[in-house]
Amino acid sequence: MKRNARAVLCAMLALFAALGGYFFYAVYNNGSRWFTTPYNTRLRQARGSVIAGDILDRNGTVLVTSAADGSREYPTSRETRKALSHVLGDVQGQVPTGAESFLAADLLGFNASLSDRVSQLFAEKRRGSDVILTIDADLQTYIAQQFPEDHNGAVAVLNYKTGEVLALYSKPEYDAKHPENFAGADDESGVLLNRATQGRYAPGSVFKIVTLACALENIPGVQERTFKCEGVYPVTEEMDLIDTEGEGHGELTLEEAFAKSCNIAFGQLALELGEDKLRATAERMGFNGNFLFEDLIVYESIFPQTMKDEGELAWTGVGQGNLMAVPMHMALIAGAVGNGGTMVEPQLVLAVRGASGGESSRLNPRAALQCMRQDVAATIEAYMIETVENGTGTRAAVEGHTIAGKTGTAQVNSSGGKYSPHAWFVGYCAEEDFPYAIAVVVENGGSGGSTAARLAGKVLSRAIKNAQ
Ligand SMILES: [Zn+2]
Repeated sequence: MKRNARAVLCAMLALFAALGGYFFYAVYNNGSRWFTTPYNTRLRQARGSVIAGDILDRNGTVLVTSAADGSREYPTSRETRKALSHVLGDVQGQVPTGAESFLAADLLGFNASLSDRVSQLFAEKRRGSDVILTIDADLQTYIAQQFPEDHNGAVAVLNYKTGEVLALYSKPEYDAKHPENFAGADDESGVLLNRATQGRYAPGSVFKIVTLACALENIPGVQERTFKCEGVYPVTEEMDLIDTEGEGHGELTLEEAFAKSCNIAFGQLALELGEDKLRATAERMGFNGNFLFEDLIVYESIFPQTMKDEGELAWTGVGQGNLMAVPMHMALIAGAVGNGGTMVEPQLVLAVRGASGGESSRLNPRAALQCMRQDVAATIEAYMIETVENGTGTRAAVEGHTIAGKTGTAQVNSSGGKYSPHAWFVGYCAEEDFPYAIAVVVENGGSGGSTAARLAGKVLSRAIKNAQ
């Protein structure tokens, strides 16, 4: 009896310890997210009694500051303010992951140090901390200026070694100074959505990076193979793979098939690999997974859980079918190739400066995922460089620098079939000193090789210039 009682007690203690452990784990992982929900009344009350800190870019440019009465002011040009609208967000939290709401704990001083709190004991109104973002406001303004007129879309730029996010651009923009104009705007398709982190698009041929990785990991000798592309390849009775409007590329090596973005070769590879292997590779790169990072949330990219038939499998290998990809996620995948197979965690906060002036670094480079083997990454890099030097991505070239990339032209599902496809480019600068990865989506921008690649080249060139 006594022994039983002791056993029960031990079991209960173990359960209690596990529960306590989980509590700390949950608070540690989700604490800041719970804190910044609009339902946190403590946060709402604090806005009345605390003067929020400034938001600065990586070069010290003040993007948002507080007036004496606590209202928010934007010292930059209107153009820069609009270019940064989704990064900054709004105090009401209408843009769910904007800095104003997502970093409210810092801006309102809840994370302030003891000395900061003591120094403000007798202040009339407490002051929160300043937040220094990893964002380069000049680069982001430049992107807004260069983005094709009359098109919406997104651009994400990050340092693929440290994770610093340099630009996170979403169009249509809105004016952060007048958020009331957008109150109640539809959050799924509307102007308040940050398309760079929350927009889901068919990836088109940029997904061939995933198919290529899967083939290199699972098919021995695949690099030495030749493929024959005659423009049309029947997969099932109802479904053909079609390429170059039926013209065909002729005989191709794997590298040529990638650089020229051959649908037939990559559809055939998907059929040979099968749905499970392709899904496993995609998931290792972060498809079907939530990215709840500390500084930002990247919506989940989707690889379908089931497929209708071989026809769908073939088209999935080409980047069509029911795939969905988020621009920031694709930039992370491109960056992982440049980083020897390791995807870094994207970070938006460089440092936090307390009310008494003490600055503490917040940047803490860490790996998010191990996406592929190092030798596989090296081969994909060589193919992506070839794509920019001699393939579909030549417009992304930057003189004097080595750029790796992949274009995509994603068909848009529409009953009338009247919409132009979305134009994609993902890639990076393959140089130690300028480890910048990029993803560009130009909605209805036509061929990725023209609009998106050209914009990506300009933006990478500017990022390199700004780093010199
Ligand atoms: Zn082809």
